[in-house]
Amino acid sequence: MTQLHNMTVAQLAQTLQTKQASAVEVATAFLARAGGNPHNAFLDIDSEVTLAQAQASDARIAAGTAGTLEGVPIAHKDVFVTRDFATTAGSKILNGYRSPFDATVVQKLGTGVNAQGGAGMVTLGKVNCDEFAMGSANENSAYGPVTNPWDTSRVPGGSSGGSAAAVAARLAPAATGTDTGGSIRQPASFCGITGIKPTYGRASRYGMIAYASSLDQAGPMARTAEDCALLLSAMCGADLDRDSTSLDVPAENFSAKLGDSLLGLRIGIPKEFFGEGLAADVRAAIDAALKALEAQGAKLVPITLPRTELAIPVYYIIAPAEASSNLSRFDGVKFGHRAKDYTDLVSMYKKTRAEGFGEEVKRRIMTGAYVLSHGYYDAYYLQAQKIRRMIADDFQRAFAECDVIAGPVAPTVAWKLGNNASDPLADYLADIFTLPASLAGLPGMSVPVGFGEGHMPVGLQLIGNYLQEARLLNVAHQYQLATDHHLQKPEGI
Ligand code: GLN
Repeated sequence: MTQLHNMTVAQLAQTLQTKQASAVEVATAFLARAGGNPHNAFLDIDSEVTLAQAQASDARIAAGTAGTLEGVPIAHKDVFVTRDFATTAGSKILNGYRSPFDATVVQKLGTGVNAQGGAGMVTLGKVNCDEFAMGSANENSAYGPVTNPWDTSRVPGGSSGGSAAAVAARLAPAATGTDTGGSIRQPASFCGITGIKPTYGRASRYGMIAYASSLDQAGPMARTAEDCALLLSAMCGADLDRDSTSLDVPAENFSAKLGDSLLGLRIGIPKEFFGEGLAADVRAAIDAALKALEAQGAKLVPITLPRTELAIPVYYIIAPAEASSNLSRFDGVKFGHRAKDYTDLVSMYKKTRAEGFGEEVKRRIMTGAYVLSHGYYDAYYLQAQKIRRMIADDFQRAFAECDVIAGPVAPTVAWKLGNNASDPLADYLADIFTLPASLAGLPGMSVPVGFGEGHMPVGLQLIGNYLQEARLLNVAHQYQLATDHHLQKPEGI
């Protein structure tokens, strides 16, 4: 039998259902690997809680009431609130915070909403991320950076860096992530794993600590497209009473169409994704992947997404604007940290926020407040909203000519830790290829397609039209049937 930690989610589910291993054995194997916290990937682990959940899974398997992924472990990004583990969103301001409830996504993957119909997964713990999911390298966590399992002198990507590192290092078979401007796709690419951000509104945002509400979306990160399909099927579904932007579309079985042939599939290649800024090593891996897809019967169609460059200023106006509003709730009164020495209410607010928030979060709050302020609202925020609409329209024109869009996830492979420390703009610019789909609310995924400089993983980005997750997963799965990049492991694992 393959070692438990090397099994995919699909293999573990099968192993558990056929009782070749118990949920307690599986959880114990993963907890042992996470011990000592390699890569600083975890922020909270509680083996007692995990083992109790595993025992409950074993009981459901024995009783014949198992969920679809019963007993398979998962790690949750620390922006999903959880009752049984602390939730910090990578921030000091929420140090030690305990939520009185579980996020909808956590419930659906676990024992279900109101303990009904969940997938039955066991929570391994909470994983590190950039503070309030703001970042592209996981260097903005108040609890220290995460390292990339492929080269520990490099970043894992962000903001879901703990999720990606945990999956790549086989500390967890799967993890949840959130993607506001690329935070599932880019760390998946940097760590050589597979991740998908569904259409905005498909997975509930209830219990997901808000960064930029019109962009935030949850999704799975795992090693294969097959696993992502299983996980996404369990995560999605309308949550109309609890999330005002939840889409009223039924849950879907994303595994059902994985077997479709790629014959005749039109893959749009946006010329703006292949310009000067794209590193040669990344380009070579992407070109080879596109050739492989052509060999499977797909047709490459040149397209244009003319406002790609504008996605950076537009996103870095809209996301901070929403963040400045969302983060106003952290005032020392309701949750988490409160400053010790203060003279009056206003000084308590000020000191609490000055002590609790990190540098990048403060930068975003200030930028956001500025672009929303009287006199600048029209010049920045309103203009950005107009261009956001144009970016979405550009995609619709493109989808008249193709079925999916493909290109790089990021312009380079993972960079060295500390590389961009004095230049936050460098991190922003690296988001260029993930931001357009986020602004349009479209589903996007990252698929490992080889290696670049320093033997660092490269991810291919696939973007679909609204609600076309099944098609993206199908393309990725067919590619993974024909190639083995997703099976490569970092050294020593
Ligand atoms: N890097 C982007 C940012 O810092 C995206 C982060 C995300 O998707 N959460 O805002």
